[in-house]
Amino acid sequence: MDVTQIKHMTFAVRDAEKSLKAYKRLLGVPQATKIQEFAKSRNKAAVFDLGGIEFQITESMDPDGRFAAWIDQRGHEGLHHICFAVEDIDAALAEAQANGATLKECSACKVTGSHVHPEGWVAFLQDEVSGIEIEFMQVYKEGEGGDRPQGV
Ligand SMILES: [Zn+2]
Repeated sequence: MDVTQIKHMTFAVRDAEKSLKAYKRLLGVPQATKIQEFAKSRNKAAVFDLGGIEFQITESMDPDGRFAAWIDQRGHEGLHHICFAVEDIDAALAEAQANGATLKECSACKVTGSHVHPEGWVAFLQDEVSGIEIEFMQVYKEGEGGDRPQGV
């Protein structure tokens, strides 16, 4: 498995604005950081760099949305998934599946397995490591991913 870096970490929260304020107050996240709304996936999120890693502080816009349901199920906010950058997503998925992993549908796109996202090809695993969901991303290189959908 050729994980090259952590692409992002996504946290499920009930109130992204409140959470972002805490990151600004306690961890020095820039005051100019704003909450963005992602219509397609019905989420709002603060996305910022902290310690060289992209953080996504994400709140569902609907009570039964992906992140709201996750919080309800677990009973608390927390680290929802880690997205690991890989050199070759097809090879990474083949290796994971050869080792017993099962692919999970992307809740935003309703696609199972590798598919296009704004920043790269992504796929999710059904399998978790210690309660943390796994996403793989093969980040687009220059000239790749021209036919990609709007924000997720
Ligand atoms: Zn997707």
